[in-house]
Amino acid sequence: MAVTQGHGNPDWSRDETILALDLYFNCNGAMPKTSDRLVLELSSLLRSLPYHSKASRKETFRNAAGVVFKLKNLHKVATGEGFTTNVSKTDRLVWAELGAQRNEVAQLADLIKRSLSIDELQDDTSEPDGEEEFFEGRLLTAFHKKKERNRNIRNKLIAARHNRGPLACDMCGLKPQSSNARFEDAPFEAHHLLPMSMAMERKTQLKDMALLCANCHRLLHRAIALKRRWLTVVEARKEVGVVMSPS
Ligand SMILES: [Zn+2]
Ligand SMILES: [Zn+2]
Repeated sequence: MAVTQGHGNPDWSRDETILALDLYFNCNGAMPKTSDRLVLELSSLLRSLPYHSKASRKETFRNAAGVVFKLKNLHKVATGEGFTTNVSKTDRLVWAELGAQRNEVAQLADLIKRSLSIDELQDDTSEPDGEEEFFEGRLLTAFHKKKERNRNIRNKLIAARHNRGPLACDMCGLKPQSSNARFEDAPFEAHHLLPMSMAMERKTQLKDMALLCANCHRLLHRAIALKRRWLTVVEARKEVGVVMSPS
């Protein structure tokens, strides 16, 4: 097997590949040199992303040569031209989904770059927890989960729903199965309803949150990941085929 550039470095994630595809489009078919300003900028951006443990970041990690090599892989997927044999599954998937959507790629790249300035996402080098990754990539998926795992928000949501009556899941209608008040809120989680582009624009408000049982929350996240787009609770209910609990 040929020795590949970037050998030993972690595989490129979806986010990273989207950023590279954005640069590929901006180069309009020309292959930039490793000294190109845009290549160097992307290299330093990728080196600053808050995942891939520091230990795995060698000197060659996402260096300019690695970036150009990725652009060549994308060129290969896009045109069939070139000699690289290192096209990855993620390269193919990202190209299949976004190769014809230059504007969408630019928007996603912009979102990913903007999410880098969110304090809570700094130093998030934890490996993905095996849950679904959304269309927008790992960084923005982490952003969604951080927002809805905020205890303060969840407690406020539960208190507000309490005032209206018994707690119930917005997706399946499930009510707490225990008559003991200490267990009442345990099945429920907060889900952030806004697409990430909007969620980034403002502070979380209660009306942006749904109250879901843990089961439905997982189903809804998987439906969003599988459909490759944002879904409302009603859309997800249909997609999953949720049967409503009797009220
Ligand atoms: Zn439910
Ligand atoms: Zn959620």
